[in-house]
Amino acid sequence: MKDRYSTILISSLAHGTYLWNLPRRPSYEKNEMKTEIAIVGAGPIGIELAVALKGEGIPYVHLEAGQVGTTIGWYAPQTRFFSSPERIAISGVPLQTLDQSKATREEYLLYLRTVVQQYDLQIRSYEPVDRIEETKGGFLLHSTAGGATHTTAARRVVLAIGDMHLPRTLGIPGEDLPHVSHYFEDPHRYFRRHVLIVGGKNSAVEAAIRCYRCGARVTLSYRQEDLNPKRIKFWLMPEIRAMIRDGSIEFLPSTAPQEILGDRVVLSRVGDGDRDKAGPTENGSFEVPADFVLLMTGYRQDSSLFEGLGLRLEGPGKRPWVNPTTMETSLPGVYVAGTASAGTQMAGVKAFIETSHIHVERILAAVTGRPPRQDLERSYELPES
Ligand code: NAP
Repeated sequence: MKDRYSTILISSLAHGTYLWNLPRRPSYEKNEMKTEIAIVGAGPIGIELAVALKGEGIPYVHLEAGQVGTTIGWYAPQTRFFSSPERIAISGVPLQTLDQSKATREEYLLYLRTVVQQYDLQIRSYEPVDRIEETKGGFLLHSTAGGATHTTAARRVVLAIGDMHLPRTLGIPGEDLPHVSHYFEDPHRYFRRHVLIVGGKNSAVEAAIRCYRCGARVTLSYRQEDLNPKRIKFWLMPEIRAMIRDGSIEFLPSTAPQEILGDRVVLSRVGDGDRDKAGPTENGSFEVPADFVLLMTGYRQDSSLFEGLGLRLEGPGKRPWVNPTTMETSLPGVYVAGTASAGTQMAGVKAFIETSHIHVERILAAVTGRPPRQDLERSYELPES
């Protein structure tokens, strides 16, 4: 510890910072606290932060509820990222793809594993953090692994937990039947079967196109009057429009599922006043055949760790308040990084991997006391590509 603080002192003086910007020495006794920083979550931004902390020689512990890149792991096989490889590359490691196109799920998971191996990062996978407790001078993280509970003590915590933990459910009868899913899995499952897809944004449109190409009989139910080209990737629009126009996909605008049965779904017609409601409407209902039902209605964040810590959460999406220059939340010593900082993205998704690299720089600056690299602030201000 002594060496590290001396190094930070020298480096801070070299960067022209002042002593009061330096990190405080830990107030805890040796052995009382296990580590300086606990990172929760091993998605791309959690991993990028781990590489940065390791490079600085800052002791940290990294816990992950599932496997590295868990959320990406549940994408359908061969799903391509919407973002270009250079924008989702982390830690300065180039992301090459086989054909120079956008990375597939498989290529990106391979890439994340390679970065973890390259930097020999120690990630405690399959160890969900159930609760975080504030203590004098730090935090205790209570986690579960292999049927046993574990406690990790850290002076600071970074929550890089993502924002897509749970599907946005509709609360209609039949939603929990085995042929109903909120996740688009391998489209091969739907070959020559009737599949009803619910939703009208990127997941629903992409699933509809891929299921049709896979040989499924696709019906797309959307509660709005039409698909909105501003909310769907521009390269998907001509494809879905053409498939609807020639009858390859049956599009049912202004409809919403009311009840899911074993081989069909009851849809209700939706008027202007009830587009956001689930369940019966006064505009009538009808049935469509459905061997499978894909509810592509979006996802939400599990904010229980934020709530347990009593963080200030804002808006209907419960976005954690952060100091924008440090990513520190309303509770000193607790930071958020990555899409976790956006809460549940209700009115359109604006936080992505590519807009979150800067969080690593901000947190690093905060924990070392160095000024954040100003040149990076602008280079990360990129629209999604
Ligand atoms: P989303 O953008 O939140 O869209 C959810 C859709 O479900 C919307 O059309 C919404 O209708 C509808 N919906 C929500 N609640 C409903 C209800 N109670 N009844 C009926 N319909 C309901 O979710 P998403 O399409 O899953 O996209 C999530 C994120 O993943 C986005 O950032 C997207 O770009 C990204 N994504 C990436 C890829 C890729 O990289 N290949 C693929 C797919 C998605 P309204 O339109 O009326 O709100």
